This record gives sequence, C-alpha cells and structure tokens, in this order.
Amino acid sequence: MSKVIVVGAGLGGVSVAFELREKLSATVDIEVIHEGNEFNFVPSNPWVALGSRTREQVVLPITPIFDKHHIGFNSSGVKRIDTVHKQLTLGDGSQKDYDFLVICSGPKLAFEQVPGAGPEHGYTQSICTVDHAVKAHQAFQRLIEDPGPVLVGALPGASCFGPAYEYVLSLEYELRKRKIRDRVPITFVTPEPYIGHMGLGGVGDSKGLMEHQFREHGIKWICNAKVTEFTQDKASFEVINDDGSIKSQQQLPYHLAMFLPAFKGSPAIAEVPDLCNPKGFVKIDKYQRALAYPEIYAAGVCVAIAPIEETPVPVGAPKTGLMIESMTSAIVANIQSTLAEQPATTEPTLSALCLADMGNTGMAFLAVPQNPPRNQNWTGSGRWVHWAKIGFEKYFFHKVKHGTSEPVYERVGMRMLGVSRLKPKG
Ligand SMILES: Cc1cc2nc3c(=O)[nH]c(=O)nc-3n(C[C@H](O)[C@H](O)[C@H](O)COP(=O)(O)OP(=O)(O)OC[C@H]3O[C@@H](n4cnc5c(N)ncnc54)[C@H](O)[C@@H]3O)c2cc1C
Repeated sequence: MSKVIVVGAGLGGVSVAFELREKLSATVDIEVIHEGNEFNFVPSNPWVALGSRTREQVVLPITPIFDKHHIGFNSSGVKRIDTVHKQLTLGDGSQKDYDFLVICSGPKLAFEQVPGAGPEHGYTQSICTVDHAVKAHQAFQRLIEDPGPVLVGALPGASCFGPAYEYVLSLEYELRKRKIRDRVPITFVTPEPYIGHMGLGGVGDSKGLMEHQFREHGIKWICNAKVTEFTQDKASFEVINDDGSIKSQQQLPYHLAMFLPAFKGSPAIAEVPDLCNPKGFVKIDKYQRALAYPEIYAAGVCVAIAPIEETPVPVGAPKTGLMIESMTSAIVANIQSTLAEQPATTEPTLSALCLADMGNTGMAFLAVPQNPPRNQNWTGSGRWVHWAKIGFEKYFFHKVKHGTSEPVYERVGMRMLGVSRLKPKG
C-alpha cells in the first residue's frame, strides 16, 4: 500500500483526507499530521470575536473522527521534511515515511513585520485563529464598557481582506444594537488601493458596493496605507502615492484595533530546499504538484499564487474555501492517476467566492476564475448572504463530523451559479 501523509487538519487538510479515504482507501494508507487535536472552522472566527459564537461552537475534537474513519492521526506537527528519504520528523520525535505528501499547512501569521502588531507580542487583535478570536472578544467587551475609536484593516502584504470587511461591518452592527455606536468612531485602514479591491483587483462592482456600505454605516476609510507601528493606543502609518512616494504620515488613536497580518508559509515547510518561494509558500504546477518534488502536493493558503496586480502598497491574492476544495479534489484525482501509472491531468478551476457577513445582512462576491479577465464577475448583497454564511458553517461541520468528501462550497455556492470545481478535461 502507498502511504499518503497530509500535513495540517484545517479546511484543506480535512477535505483532502476524507476524499482520499472515500476514493482511495483500498490502495492507500492515510495519515494526518496536525498541530493540536482540534479542527477550527476559521471562517467562523469573526463571530467568536463579536460574541455570536463561543470557542466550543467553532472547533471540533478531530482525533475521534479520524479514528472512526480509519485515518491515522498525530497531533505533534511536522518539524522537518527530508525529501531525499521521503521522511518526516514530527514534534514528538517520531519519524514517518511517505510515498505522497499533501501539504495543507495554512498560513504563518507575520505580525512581526510591524512593531506592536498582533495579540501575542503586540497591542492589536486578530481573528485568524480561534484563540486570537477569543482574545478579540475580550477586547470587544472592554470596548463596550469604555467606548472609543476603533481601527480595523490589514497590514502591508496582507492577502486576506474579506474577514476584515466582515469584522468591521459586523462590529458596527453590534455597536448600533447596543446603542453606543455614536461613541465609537470607526476607521478602516488598508493597503488596498481602493475599498473592495480585496487582493482581487475588485470583483464586479465591489468598490461601489463596499464604499456605499461604509458611507451608509459611517465608517471612514484610508487606502494605500502602510502601517508602520502600533503603540498601546496609537497606530502610525504612511499613505503611499501611486509612484511609491509617501503622500502623508499619520497617527490615529484607538481603543480597539483589529488588523489582519501578511501571511508566510509554515516554518517546517518553508525551510525545505527548492520547495517554496521566498515567503515560504509551496511552488506548484497546474496539477497542484510541487515543482521540485512530484510526490509532494499542496493545497490551501500554503500554496504560492502570484499577486493579481502591482499596487502602491503590496497586497497578495486570497485563497478561499471554494478554491481550496477545488485544489484538494484535483490532488486526489491526480494521486489516483499516478497510482494507476497514468499522467496527472486534473486541474482545479481556482475561482473565488467570498461571503462577508454584516450582522444581519451581508455581501457576496464571485470571481470565476479568480484572476481577471473573468467569465463571471458578480457581486450581490442582502439578508440571504448572512443565512448562506451560516449554511456554509453548518454544512462544513457536517462534512467534518461525518468524514465525507462533500465539496461544501461547490454544493452551496456554485451549483446555483453553474460553475464547477474542476476544469473539464481535453
Ligand atoms: C478569519 C478568516 C476568515 C475567513 N473566512 C472565509 C470565508 O468566509 N470563506 C472562505 O471561503 N474563506 C475564508 N477564509 C480563507 C480560508 O478559507 C481559510 O483561511 C481556511 O481556513 C484556509 O484553509 P487551509 O487548510 O489552507 O489552512 P488552515 O485552515 O489554517 O489549516 C492549516 C492547519 O495546518 C496546521 N499546520 C501548520 N503548520 C503545520 C505543521 N508544520 N505540521 C502540522 N500542521 C501544521 C495549522 O495548525 C492549521 O490548523 C478566511 C480566512 C480567515 C483568516
């Protein structure tokens, strides 16, 4: 039997492990190596930060689920990859051999790039992990007791913007509900060249729609912002002109600041010779295979995708659920072909579907494919987005609890819109 090891049990890792089990359990032995014993549905973290979910509602103990489905599991993380001997060294000191390695290790959060950023060594909040979101909820409760200015946004080099929009609009809704909105000036500070760019060069009329929402909800914004430092109660940043020169240097006070960081690759992955780009993201071909190692595949936030366009302050391209599930399905099909001694031929469609909740309503963006020019370039808004977002959460937890290979994002979002995850062959 061939041995397939999956690194990381996040959105990408569980998808690939369950699909491998469903389609290839007769021919492969599957093991997942994760850091910790929990699966966290990351898209629900903004709700934890604002108190509409608890930590327990957005994580699942993953060991019994893998046990039940006869998938090997180790929670001590991958510390070293030896590509010559196809061997991993784990956090508990043990070693594992692999025939195929599927890397789904998500992002390492690069808060260290901006002094004072981040909830562990700095002053700002984050929603990127569930434990960050729990801390952010405590900060939100302090804000309710002592209202004052709020800053939300992203740091230079960030690639994930949807959750910042979702957080700021949901926060605004929560403050209005509590009738303290009048005591909380909110400013959105972003490296994007315009509101609604989202690392995607905009989607449909996302600029118009987002600006409209911000105006309607009294949220000020500052674009082309390069945050340089946070102190306990102040953010310093430069606003950059199109030619890269500094237009102005500014400082803004805050009681609460939530900023999404730039992402890098997980250290154990980033240090493998020739595997990654300088940021530590895995360089892959169109079949999700590592350029330097044909037996290594990668999916999710850990893969290298070039920025869509140059911007005055660098921003990256996002990797979202629909795209990730399309990558993991392509990987399973290509491992299957390789085992049958056929060439790998399955390509993911790499489209983006973003839903941004706004408390009781929301906005949706669909980019097919993600990189322009696109066949579909659509934005929508309404209460249905809020309910669809809850639908994704419930459906994804159902997938994980039952160990199925359900392509949740395709089923909920794409079937309706007539787009599939995988490219037609030939
Ligand atoms: C706050 C937030 C909200 C988002 N909301 C949405 C949304 O609504 N819709 C959408 O489509 N997308 C959303 N995304 C984008 C994306 O879908 C998620 O980031 C998703 O979780 C990425 O999946 P992943 O498997 O690549 O990484 P992750 O889910 O982060 O999983 C990676 C896992 O690998 C583990 N790992 C790392 N290094 C190692 C190692 N060396 N050994 C073993 N394990 C390791 C990590 O601990 C982690 O658990 C959101 C992103 C964020 C940050």
